[in-house]
Amino acid sequence: MQKDGAKPIVRMEKLNKHFGTLHVLKDVDLAVTPGEVVVIIGASGSGKSTLIRCINGLEEFQSGHLDVDGKELLPNGKASKALQQIRTEVGMVFQQFNLFPHMTVLDNVTLAPMKVRGASRDEAQQTARRLLERVGISDQAEKHPTQLSGGQQQRVALARALAMEPRLMLFDEPTSALDPEMIGEVLDAMRELAREGMTMVIVTHEMTFAREVADRVIYIHKGEIVEQGKPEAVFDNPQNERTQSFLARVL
Ligand code: ADP
Ligand code: MG
Repeated sequence: MQKDGAKPIVRMEKLNKHFGTLHVLKDVDLAVTPGEVVVIIGASGSGKSTLIRCINGLEEFQSGHLDVDGKELLPNGKASKALQQIRTEVGMVFQQFNLFPHMTVLDNVTLAPMKVRGASRDEAQQTARRLLERVGISDQAEKHPTQLSGGQQQRVALARALAMEPRLMLFDEPTSALDPEMIGEVLDAMRELAREGMTMVIVTHEMTFAREVADRVIYIHKGEIVEQGKPEAVFDNPQNERTQSFLARVL
């Protein structure tokens, strides 16, 4: 649920991103307010991943303005101390879970809080166990990632991100690598997070989920936001013909 009138936590203005000669993001404007859940949809290769990776500085951009929680990221990756701060405040969950395979679930979740935030082991473990409970896998704490199902691993990845007490969570197709029977458990955990008021930017192909959880749906086509609005408006009554033909293919 977004708070009207609040200062945006993400403010992106006329952002342009090139990979060599490929113009991947074109004058993208995006403001995300605290508590808002924004879902980004679009065809493969349209720039969805690049867009959200810019938000936590995983990709550089060439022009435009971007600040996250009031800290500005500069074009061309110009050394900015904001980047370190932003990385600690923005959690990200990827398609591939990216857990540390040689560490237990508990150690995966406590590592960053101890290393980056200077939390004590006790404190970090207490938080980790609470988060594992919250995503429904408290009984898996001592196992290694390879002993878990994909759905369980992705919930560990979610708990690991939440352990840093992020102000914003980014998700890049978090269920795309999962077997169908495991998608629901990950979406349930995300739904719960949205209900608790987390600010979220989500790239997904799960349109039923998007409709249910999004405050705003953004359709991106070849690096441009061509349509956005409330889920009912975008899904039931898309105005742009690109959006119409995309939705006709995926719905
Ligand atoms: P999406 O997530 O919507 O599928 P991406 O953001 O991954 O799209 O990619 C957008 C475009 O940028 C695609 O044409 C893709 O091939 C290209 N691209 C993505 N990453 C790189 C990279 N590291 N180097 C060069 N081109 C890239
Ligand atoms: Mg992608």
